[in-house]
Amino acid sequence: CVTGVQTCALPIFLQEFSLQLRILFQQQYFITKEGLVMIVTERKTDIFERRAGGKGNTIMEHIVDEKVYGGKIAAYARVILKPGCSLGYHKHEGTSETIYILQGTALYNDNGTENTLTAGAVVFCPEGESHSIENIGQDDLLAMALIVNEK
Ligand code: MN
Repeated sequence: CVTGVQTCALPIFLQEFSLQLRILFQQQYFITKEGLVMIVTERKTDIFERRAGGKGNTIMEHIVDEKVYGGKIAAYARVILKPGCSLGYHKHEGTSETIYILQGTALYNDNGTENTLTAGAVVFCPEGESHSIENIGQDDLLAMALIVNEK
């Protein structure tokens, strides 16, 4: 029931919201029966080399600009690790992290205990604890990561 792409004639509150995001993200708005839906069409992507002492690149595609959360969320991102790449072992100081595996096979180190994760697995690293994640499969490892500011 999408009736068209609207880039103007938006309610004022959405225009203001959009202006903040436009620094890094591009949105389209669709009018549906349920109301206005925001579609982010271009995302900020961070590529970290050997992140936390890991191997290769950690790619983070930010789903929305974290500014919309007013400081409560540090990042909400789709993380991509190519085969053989890893995000090294690190401690979460002041943040927690929830990871949801979308695709691939991961070797996950939870405070020194290793487990293999596949699609559908969810792991939680509370504030003050440590973890690492490595793509040990043949396909790209895709995961959603939510990093919450705990302090
Ligand atoms: Mn982490």
